[in-house]
Amino acid sequence: MKKIALLSLLLFFSIFILRSFIFGPNTKLTDGEFNSQKFESISQSKKVEGQISLQDKPSKKPLPPSHSKLKKRKKPNSLHQYKNEDNNKERDPLHSAQTDQSGKIFPRSVKVDDEYIVAYGDLIIGSADDLSDYQSGEKHLDIPPPVLWPKGDIPYELDSSLDDPIQKELIKRAVEHLNTVSGINFHPRKNSEESYVLFKRGDQHCYANVGFRVGVSYVSLSPGCGEKEIYHELFHVLGFFHEQNRPDRDDHIEVLWENIDEENWTQFERFSVESYPEALQDLNNLPFEFESIMLYDSYSFSNSSDYSMVKIDGTSFSHQLIRPSYTDLERLKLLYP
Ligand SMILES: [Zn+2]
Repeated sequence: MKKIALLSLLLFFSIFILRSFIFGPNTKLTDGEFNSQKFESISQSKKVEGQISLQDKPSKKPLPPSHSKLKKRKKPNSLHQYKNEDNNKERDPLHSAQTDQSGKIFPRSVKVDDEYIVAYGDLIIGSADDLSDYQSGEKHLDIPPPVLWPKGDIPYELDSSLDDPIQKELIKRAVEHLNTVSGINFHPRKNSEESYVLFKRGDQHCYANVGFRVGVSYVSLSPGCGEKEIYHELFHVLGFFHEQNRPDRDDHIEVLWENIDEENWTQFERFSVESYPEALQDLNNLPFEFESIMLYDSYSFSNSSDYSMVKIDGTSFSHQLIRPSYTDLERLKLLYP
């Protein structure tokens, strides 16, 4: 009997430990990342029915899986709790970006990298110098719908930190190319011009601000950022998000969540239509573009040798272009005729 009692006790504690390990709060973030739940002020915005709020208590309703593969996912932790009053309104609300009614996005997690605070892979949304202001709630981390550059006029400057002549030449060629195919006008900045794009050298990755902002918009390029990446970041600066974040992406691609680490799920959130510039809100006129310079490829953020995204027919995609596709340029003309 004693042996049975001892074994039961051992079993009970094993389950308890295992349970805390699996379902415990997500405090394990990778270096340089922090949990945006700390920024309670972010969630002070108006809550929209059916939208996710970090402050919501977990819903007791079961997850509405949009496809069978979702069933294999780990139980969502506190970062991904959601409340959805009407599950028919939106498929799989767990993977929608948190927004307010104006379309302003409140990222669930961000990364502090070098001098920038970055969301959704490569979008600069703040300066690391202001980190304490964000943590205290004095400043807010959010992504408003991109503002277009007035009259398509874009002063730019190449920072002296850029020391690779090839990279500098690629930047100049890229902006000149975009000038010839759309209504935008990149031109070297005059001292009097207050708002401009500054191309800087970064230590790692390639980052950019999204759309126009008063003051400096950064394009940060590490030595590894080539022509393709320069165009990609330029499109962010011009007001574009990633193609896989489109509100209707589930009609065109399937995200294989089980192949993506949970901390990277935010990369694949669906944005709301209101989060886009007005000229890009009519999705019927904007077919999903597998050749887009703004679409990640099938292996992006995969935690294995398996795909993270496939087309709806199950096949993979990988764009070969190092420049914007025809469709990308057509969209650019929609924003800057
Ligand atoms: Zn990007």
